[in-house]
Amino acid sequence: MTPTISKLGKEIKPSETLRLMEEVSSLEKEYGFKIIDLTSGQPDRGPTEDVLAALSEGGKLSRYGPVQGAPELREILSGVIAKEIGVRYDPQDIAITVGAKGGLDILLRVLLEPGENVGIMTPFWVTYPESVKMAYGIPCFLGSDGDLRPEPGKLRREIEAKNIKVLLYSSPCNPSGIVYTRDELEEIAKIVKEKDIWVISDEIYGKFVFDGRKHESLLSIAGLRDNAILVDGPSKRFGVPGWRLGYVAGPSEVIKALTKLQGHVNSGTSRPAQYAVRVAYTSQKAKEATDDMRQRYERNRNIFVKGLNEIDGISCIKPEGAFYAFPNIDNFFGSKYEFVGKEFPIRSSADFRNFLLRKAQVAGVEGAPFGMESHIRFSLATGEENIVNALNYINQAMKELHL
Ligand code: PMP
Repeated sequence: MTPTISKLGKEIKPSETLRLMEEVSSLEKEYGFKIIDLTSGQPDRGPTEDVLAALSEGGKLSRYGPVQGAPELREILSGVIAKEIGVRYDPQDIAITVGAKGGLDILLRVLLEPGENVGIMTPFWVTYPESVKMAYGIPCFLGSDGDLRPEPGKLRREIEAKNIKVLLYSSPCNPSGIVYTRDELEEIAKIVKEKDIWVISDEIYGKFVFDGRKHESLLSIAGLRDNAILVDGPSKRFGVPGWRLGYVAGPSEVIKALTKLQGHVNSGTSRPAQYAVRVAYTSQKAKEATDDMRQRYERNRNIFVKGLNEIDGISCIKPEGAFYAFPNIDNFFGSKYEFVGKEFPIRSSADFRNFLLRKAQVAGVEGAPFGMESHIRFSLATGEENIVNALNYINQAMKELHL
């Protein structure tokens, strides 16, 4: 007999996106075929040379640093927020965290009492509900409309009915690619103010918006400073998710409390990474590399979404940002296919994901962990050739589905 582990430890779900990345490589070994991996939640390009050089130079920072993060980096981020969002956050009101994910985790622990409700806009990033549970909060899923856009009327009713304390969303949205408009944000801001709740705006895909759109932030709406908290970071825009660095900006009291907790959780994030990211936020080369990624992902979106919509039974809204396509595939629930001499039914988004893995050798992530069983998510952060081939293979595989 071993002593028991906690209910949380038993019940928390593993990150499906990270788990699948590992499964894809083991399937390749098992069946001996090459899979086009569109599961990835990360850019396909790494940091520019100047940023890499700064990382190695930063290696000399081998002692503990300030828990809240390097003052020089917070100063730069204060400027970045002012320039890109149009509001000034004092460097004191910004904390550097272990990824945006690590920031969100500590932030939720700072905001929530056990049992309090967090409203998560559906569809959502897989980590949100688990992160809420780790802070002993209760995730409550708030509906969007049929086009996966926020629906203010419904939102107001749900926030009231569910006694929501914190509202949480990403725009550009992972997984849908929806970018909230200024009008939608103003509506959300009205509800937040009226109910006097917290709102966490995750803007990690803010640099990836398409068709000449401008990324709009909730934080730029007047009168919201006491309620809104920004979660962001360099992982996506500079292609450095492995460096584990993000940041949170918000009211002083929140950032002070977050820093206290961070002092015990991880003593702050890697100093060499902070040193290098300082360079990234000021480098012209890094800026051009981000622009280049955005243009490539927009082209991939054009090809992939058009191709998906040409397949009978699949429908996909046109993502306005981020780097994912999120088509509806529930028309195929109830169909079957053969693989290694056996018949497999499709009854769920995970079954559909397995079907594509086995018959098209294309890997996506099923919609269920994003709150939408009817959908599947494909990453567009790859080369154009992969996008074109994936489409062809999916097209071929669909012909093998039958009732
Ligand atoms: N927010 C969203 C919406 C994400 O998709 C991700 C990464 N998949 C993160 C936050 C986490 O970013 P980081 O790597 O900085 O922890």
